[in-house]
Amino acid sequence: MSRSFDVVVFEGDGIGPEITAPTLDILRRVSEKSAYELVFNTLPAGANLYAKTGESLPATSLEAARNADAILLSAMGLLNIRKPDGTEISPQLDLRSELDLFAGVRPVRITPGLKTPLKLEEGKTVDFVLIRESTEGLFYSRGNGEVNQDEARETLVITRKTSEKLFKFAFNLARQRQSAGQGEGRVTCVDKANVFRAFAFFRDIFNGEARHYPELIADHAYVDATALWMVQKPWFFDVMVTENMFGDILSDLGAGLMGGLGVAPSADIGENHAVFQPCHGSVPDIAGLGIANPFAMILSATMMLDWLGIRHEQPELVRDGGLLRDAVDRVIASGRSTTRDLGGSSTTADAAAAVLQAFEGAI
Ligand code: ATP
Ligand code: MG
Repeated sequence: MSRSFDVVVFEGDGIGPEITAPTLDILRRVSEKSAYELVFNTLPAGANLYAKTGESLPATSLEAARNADAILLSAMGLLNIRKPDGTEISPQLDLRSELDLFAGVRPVRITPGLKTPLKLEEGKTVDFVLIRESTEGLFYSRGNGEVNQDEARETLVITRKTSEKLFKFAFNLARQRQSAGQGEGRVTCVDKANVFRAFAFFRDIFNGEARHYPELIADHAYVDATALWMVQKPWFFDVMVTENMFGDILSDLGAGLMGGLGVAPSADIGENHAVFQPCHGSVPDIAGLGIANPFAMILSATMMLDWLGIRHEQPELVRDGGLLRDAVDRVIASGRSTTRDLGGSSTTADAAAAVLQAFEGAI
């Protein structure tokens, strides 16, 4: 039976609109050939909107996002447009808290053609997913820390409720990856349980959850060792799960391993909603030039297809997500049709067109 999915799209600021347009074109072409339909509803949000109206995420946009099947968001925020208190305009953070998107999913895949700074041993492939808790941890007191002349304090919050949901999500993802032949079924809890009681608590909850997944490997690693291993033996990891601040730092390290933010996709997932967006910012210095790399955005869209397909038991979407990801991989491997940040000289439009050609079997 054919199914239609409502996707709310936020084009964002800077390079946002120019990487969104080709991504939607590709998704239209991909879904055209299948029995499902994607209906896009592009809505206002972002720093430019704030500059014009004083609002960065209008209530109508938020409401539509709440009612959509999925949300596709491009890059948001501009350094020179800020709130009066100096904080950045970041509707993506508002969406995270409004929609309770507790799991920040950051895949790290080093595919042939990427300019990874690592020297990979022959036969080793790097393909893991970092899951960053996104609603609490050390970001809990974001902007509300206590500061006086002599002292500053921030609060680290770990709750049982959120941690349980987070670990369930991590174990289920490892299970999916294992059955898709993508991972060995290992979940590594990254913490600093040797120093902080909050992290010992986090680890205990992880161990409790692990008992429900006897077929998976439940591992622990300290965050400092993890940073070392991500560089020395990144192929070891399958699914990593960690606290908000640690995840923030390690996900940039992950993007660095892939050779840059232009190929780093992400998803922020909750129980009932999910936002898919590239890890990179709005890169205003190249906005409007038509040379931005659309791959992180396209790869984020593939994560959306995966998530919708699994959630609604529509294998066609999962298949298309995989095929589209393969298409991006092939374009990168070909070394042609990549943008400047990847060492090529293609425009956004040419890079996106090459992905479509690859999807259709031409590359
Ligand atoms: P933020 O303010 O959120 O940090 P930003 O605009 O500084 O955003 P980053 O995501 O930090 O952008 O990206 C850092 C640099 O990586 C950019 O200045 C740019 O050189 C490069 N980059 C990132 N994403 C892309 C892209 N999609 N296409 C081309 N270059 C990119
Ligand atoms: Mg930056």
